[in-house]
Amino acid sequence: MDRITIQNLEIFANHGVFPEETKLGQKFLVDAELMVDTRAAGLQDDLDKSVHYGLVSQEMTRFMKENTFRLIEAAAEQMAEHLLLTFPLIRGLMLEIKKPWAPVGLPLETVSVRIERRWHKAYVAFGSNMGDRKAHIESGIQVLSEEKRIRLGKISDMIVTEPYGGVEQEDFLNGCLELETLLTPMELLAVLQKAEQKEKRERLVHWGPRTLDLDLLFYDDEILEEPELAVPHPEIQKRRFVLEPLAQIAPYKVHPLLKKRVTELLSELED
Ligand code: ADP
Ligand code: MG
Repeated sequence: MDRITIQNLEIFANHGVFPEETKLGQKFLVDAELMVDTRAAGLQDDLDKSVHYGLVSQEMTRFMKENTFRLIEAAAEQMAEHLLLTFPLIRGLMLEIKKPWAPVGLPLETVSVRIERRWHKAYVAFGSNMGDRKAHIESGIQVLSEEKRIRLGKISDMIVTEPYGGVEQEDFLNGCLELETLLTPMELLAVLQKAEQKEKRERLVHWGPRTLDLDLLFYDDEILEEPELAVPHPEIQKRRFVLEPLAQIAPYKVHPLLKKRVTELLSELED
């Protein structure tokens, strides 16, 4: 992706662990590398198709001056998020905050923190087979939409599915959705679990009835093997009730481990 860069933007602000730092203030220098697709702006010579580096510089200055953080880690983290939420054409960014007057008491040019943050694409499967199934699912989607670090994309139709796993229970309503997020996979899982809890999901019987189940299917093309989080979700290729709705919204998504498209996994399913 193309980059728009801002180098050594000088900002006098009040971040630091020591009281003198927050009282007197000091000089900070900020570097930003904005991941922006500049192709259209370049071909059409049109600023509206790009990100205005002047406005970004103003926003960074305002943000650094209006807030007080103890750590430049915090200043960088919060500012990165603020910029990604404010300028929709910034897909990701690198931010470096330098503190040349850091009270270290040794001759150094500067200390700094550099971070990279960006929007990630994820797919989530939802299912319910207790009570008002549609209402549980809609309420879960509502919880996701209320998190500012999540932007919902396509949502599949809800399909009716017979239960799986041999426990006698109601039919399921299942579907999938696409989202963009600034959250890490674990943070996203926590939001999914919060939404499940809100519907008072009970875990009495394994494979048994549930008010709401939200599973993280894919997170970019990442492969995770944490005890609490396996991504891609290990059961995707076995579940018609996942692949069918997923094929509606992401037919050409390639499974990063199996290296097959969703449509291909669906056509290979055995009933
Ligand atoms: P299931 O979805 O398999 O029917 P649960 O919803 O009860 O079962 O999930 C049990 C555990 O699975 C959760 O506590 C969660 O930590 C773990 N888990 C592992 N990988 C994932 C994933 N990709 N999405 C959601 N939960 C996951
Ligand atoms: Mg689950």
